[in-house]
Amino acid sequence: MKALAIYEHGGIDKLQIVDLPKPTIGRDDVLINVKAVALNHLDLFVRNGSPALKLPLPHIPGSDVSGVIAEVGENVADLKVGTRVAVNPGLSCGHCEFCIAGEESLCAEFKILGEHLAGGAAEFVRLPAVNVLPIPDSISFEQAAAASLVFLTAWRALISRARLRVGEDVLILGAGAGVSTAAIQIAKRAGARVFVTSSSDDKLQKAKQIGADVLINYMTQEWDREVFKLTDKRGVDVVFESVGAATWLKSIRALKRGGRMVVIGATTGPNPPEEIGYIFWKQIEIIGSTMASQSEFREVMKLVLRGDLKPVIDVVMPLERAREAHARLEQGEQFGKIVLTL
Ligand SMILES: [Zn+2]
Repeated sequence: MKALAIYEHGGIDKLQIVDLPKPTIGRDDVLINVKAVALNHLDLFVRNGSPALKLPLPHIPGSDVSGVIAEVGENVADLKVGTRVAVNPGLSCGHCEFCIAGEESLCAEFKILGEHLAGGAAEFVRLPAVNVLPIPDSISFEQAAAASLVFLTAWRALISRARLRVGEDVLILGAGAGVSTAAIQIAKRAGARVFVTSSSDDKLQKAKQIGADVLINYMTQEWDREVFKLTDKRGVDVVFESVGAATWLKSIRALKRGGRMVVIGATTGPNPPEEIGYIFWKQIEIIGSTMASQSEFREVMKLVLRGDLKPVIDVVMPLERAREAHARLEQGEQFGKIVLTL
């Protein structure tokens, strides 16, 4: 089958279109004929490599997949060949204390498609049937691929973990990131006032169109001071933090006393300067969040599939242009999701 693969870690030149064997499925799996795969920052992390990430090579990246079921395992009763599907890219053991409690993303064996195992940037991908969700004809493959990872991540982080409520102020950093475009819509729908930052006025205007209320250009304004000013020196109730080292201290400063910061990533680095005094004196909560449970995935996808939450697509390209797509993501040029098609 045709696949995008890396044979060694490094820059965009390590991405290659190659011919690899089609996966074989187990009794509880399905084989999906992939139609679209969306990029995430995770794809850059996997391509670049890190000492903590030990992968058999060649490796196929790609977490956010949509397509058509091509084969079903003998134990799979509720899915049929030919069904159009989206996928939950988070895989868990299914039988540990966390999985039984419905907290699959806390599973000690939690894995992400395309990170810890072969991903979906290929003609075919294998997944456990429990991770597969049929989609209606009203949703395109591009939309379905663009939705899963960012919407499930933003949903768990804002709704389940940060407990965002009607009337609260929430700050979302970096308006153009795919996960931010999901978070803006979820926060707005939850009844919050949504503050966003970006280096680009164009991206801020696009953020406004999907629900952002307060726009702050961090190239021209000290954004933490601006947040403080615009909230009558109170600060926001919740910060949705995915940037890491570059924004950490300012994010803490932008929080109100007793506020909550939910952390879903660290795209600029994992080791920020810290002022512990802020944490205890302001009595803030710092809350980690990763991916989502199966039930959270289904909750948020229900809203996506009926059109209440809309995946924001930056650009659609064929798989063959993966290097260009990675470069665009790496430069932070996008607003929303970059989607590759097969
Ligand atoms: Zn488990």
